[in-house]
Amino acid sequence: MVATPIGNLGDMTIRAIDVLRAAHVIACEDTRVTGRLLKAHGIATRMQRYDDHAPPETRDRLLDLAREDAVALVSDAGTPLVSDPGFRLVREARERGIQVIAIPGACAAIAGLTVSGLPSDRFLFAGFLPVKDKARIDMLDELSNVPATLVFYETGPRLERSLRAIAELWPDREVAVARELTKLHEECRTAPAEDLAQHYAAHPPKGEIVLLVGPPGERAAAADPDALLREALADESPSKAAARVAKATGIDRQTLYARAVALKSA
Ligand code: SAM
Repeated sequence: MVATPIGNLGDMTIRAIDVLRAAHVIACEDTRVTGRLLKAHGIATRMQRYDDHAPPETRDRLLDLAREDAVALVSDAGTPLVSDPGFRLVREARERGIQVIAIPGACAAIAGLTVSGLPSDRFLFAGFLPVKDKARIDMLDELSNVPATLVFYETGPRLERSLRAIAELWPDREVAVARELTKLHEECRTAPAEDLAQHYAAHPPKGEIVLLVGPPGERAAAADPDALLREALADESPSKAAARVAKATGIDRQTLYARAVALKSA
């Protein structure tokens, strides 16, 4: 499993070059993209298109080959299997007793985390947020209580909507947008989601993006949800009270709603 650069061609490790040169075949998502990388590093190894939707025969052929010789897997950019193909190949290789070796290197999620200034002792990588509004909110809701920095992959056209959803749900959490990492126009902005949404509405972002959200703050962690719910229930319905306390604490709205109903009828 060979990591390749996420923009800057210089981020190819010496070991990755040696392994790709010595491999019998390089399985890759797109032979044109990988072809450019191989050319830049003077590597002449044969390529074979592969992704996890490939017919089982393609995977079988690669795995048969891997018993005899080195088969390398790369993705278009970064680390294979991280929001990229490879999971099925690795799983089946291991099931068949074929040794799988990591040749580590660039990974946008890790690069974004390392420059964001957000807590890095615990993080949860959650891949791409869903495209549809409802599914996006559901996923964010599900992650509300995770006491860790959240790391997402994002695209320019969807960034503003995601930031607005985050602003709605977690107005107080620190958010970072790491864009075009390792490239000429690399930048990382950290601010509350609402400010970032306004900035990117005025300056539509180009290029590739990692979106990070800091963990729920100490205020939220220290909050007594029952006390906050009781206060909110004095002049609001259980559903509105749950929404308000969810916003303030980052606690899951459904859990709070159930608690609000119980408190109201107690
Ligand atoms: N496997 C790759 C890795 O290890 O980073 C990620 C592949 S995923 C299909 C592509 C997404 O990664 C992009 O949409 C973007 O969110 C993120 N990404 C890749 N390169 C990036 C870069 N140079 N700067 C910021 N984000 C990047």
